[in-house]
Amino acid sequence: MDNKTEQLADGVWRVEVGLYVNAFVLANDGSGDAGGLTVVDTGWRSGGPRLVRSIRMLGLDPRAVGDVLLSHCHADHAGSAARFASSSARSRVWAGAGDLAAVRGEAPEPLAVADRRHATRLGRLLGRVFPTAPAVPDAQALNADRELDAAGGLRVVAAPGHTPGHVAFLLPARGVLLAGDAVWNVWFASRGPRFACADLPAVPATLARLAGLDYDVLAVAHGPPVTKGARQRVASLAG
Ligand SMILES: [Zn+2]
Repeated sequence: MDNKTEQLADGVWRVEVGLYVNAFVLANDGSGDAGGLTVVDTGWRSGGPRLVRSIRMLGLDPRAVGDVLLSHCHADHAGSAARFASSSARSRVWAGAGDLAAVRGEAPEPLAVADRRHATRLGRLLGRVFPTAPAVPDAQALNADRELDAAGGLRVVAAPGHTPGHVAFLLPARGVLLAGDAVWNVWFASRGPRFACADLPAVPATLARLAGLDYDVLAVAHGPPVTKGARQRVASLAG
């Protein structure tokens, strides 16, 4: 197996598609691609070929990717979503309602339009120059608490803060939380940089909500998973 790909649980794989950037591949039937695959976050646009290659290296068929779920609209997560939507897989792309317009290319990314109560000055500046992901005009809204058939069952969890429509994904049958950018694990688990956050006041309640869920493995978009005391780590970040 590629050393940049690791299995987190039955039918759940982390693929490092760029430096400190993860995508996740889920088997809908919990084992292989017979029931279709779900991808959670895609990395940058430039990492698309690597993600497709990694899916093949796992012995799975990239054309089986039926759904692409985005934790949020940023280009290091949504960068290859358009590629899957226009590929022969014709994947459906989903994002939280608050980020949907940005994913569809109908609105700027949230940092670019955040006000000073919600984002830092640096963040608002960066939001205007940060590259945006290729638009997915027919992306659809993912509502909180929605359940999907992936890896034994997947539940959408509202996790606003990093962006207003940020969502996380809980896999109760696998004991895994895919937290997107609600938690970072670059060198150590953290809330991530303040400047990258478009709704700072929402962060504590989101972390408290995530800490209250049941999982053993905390998988994040940036950095390796947290496998020891994951919920306690999130609770401590909630402060
Ligand atoms: Zn982000």
